[in-house]
Amino acid sequence: MLFKMDVVIMKETLKTLSMIPGISGHEDIIRKEIKTMIEKHVDEIKEDKMGNLIAVVKGEKKGPKILLSAHMDQIGFIVNHLEDKYIRVTPIGGISAKAAPMTPVNIYTKNKDIKGVLVSKSAFLEEPEESKKVTKIKDLFIDIGIINKDDKTTDDKDKKNKSDNKKQDILEEHGIELGDPVTFDVPFVELKNNCVRGMAFDDRAGCAVLIEAIKNLKKDFAGEVNFLFCTQEEVGLKGSRTAVFGINPDVALVVDMTTTGDMPGISKIDSSTILGAGPIITLADAEGRGLLIRKNVKEWLIGAVKKDKIKHQVEIGVRFGTTDATIINMSREGIPTGLISLPGRHIHSPTEIVNIDDLNGATKLLLAAIKSAENHFKN
Ligand SMILES: [Zn+2]
Repeated sequence: MLFKMDVVIMKETLKTLSMIPGISGHEDIIRKEIKTMIEKHVDEIKEDKMGNLIAVVKGEKKGPKILLSAHMDQIGFIVNHLEDKYIRVTPIGGISAKAAPMTPVNIYTKNKDIKGVLVSKSAFLEEPEESKKVTKIKDLFIDIGIINKDDKTTDDKDKKNKSDNKKQDILEEHGIELGDPVTFDVPFVELKNNCVRGMAFDDRAGCAVLIEAIKNLKKDFAGEVNFLFCTQEEVGLKGSRTAVFGINPDVALVVDMTTTGDMPGISKIDSSTILGAGPIITLADAEGRGLLIRKNVKEWLIGAVKKDKIKHQVEIGVRFGTTDATIINMSREGIPTGLISLPGRHIHSPTEIVNIDDLNGATKLLLAAIKSAENHFKN
């Protein structure tokens, strides 16, 4: 059973996972870390061609094949080109241009990490009409402190070619290659009431919930659980799409972050979810255009939280945005799929906030759902 000490354990697991870089398509380091954390607790573990990590725990009797999934990748950027001493980047995943500017970032090159700041044109130097415009992602660039004085831009064609070569040299000099991944670089900090702030909680919080479920899972259940830590969710729900085809489960549950509505200016009809009020059973997202859970999945999850008296919330998502649950649900000839959303504030910004008790509640929910799956789904 989970006990009070688990706040410390969950916090440490989340802290470790959130500080490891792993933007979509660059999940090698985070996958290695998760593998190290779980391999001694599982019966089988493998990596597939899409970079997904799949770990299997077998129950003591026959029963349904259950898939529990969270995505390893985080939002970030990749290096695009150098422009007048500054590094232009392409966003990877849904990054808000409102939230991202003036944030410290790390560029991960082959040999070392390079620190910088993601910036836009200085407000001190803007024309009056520019200050009224909304900043777009393409207006942002990274300052790593390049001060080469002869790197002048010019309209003269020959000089421009030389200048382009020079720019390439400057990138090479710093060991930076086009396509190098970039993440935000903000610390993990404890806040009030078991809340923490940090980066990449979407969806390292989901990974932490799965990891703690693996560590607390006893063998007294029917069937087998396939824990999937998947890749490239933030750029089109890609890793889960191929992994679920290979696993071919009888039922699936996805654990991912959702934005709570408990802040000024948001009405209950847009979001009724609250930080610290427990994990969320999401009945629909994107007004049902994403996941729209079937009655048997709802009964399974509501039954599990009621039986174990787990503090929880139920949500109907009305805004855009969906998760791997949508893709898994539509795989093969259709797979019964549920979504456990973890409440979070400021999701997809450089600094997100989650509540550790919500995460422990989600782990409890997964363990309860595993135990009762045999009553709802057949192999
Ligand atoms: Zn996510």
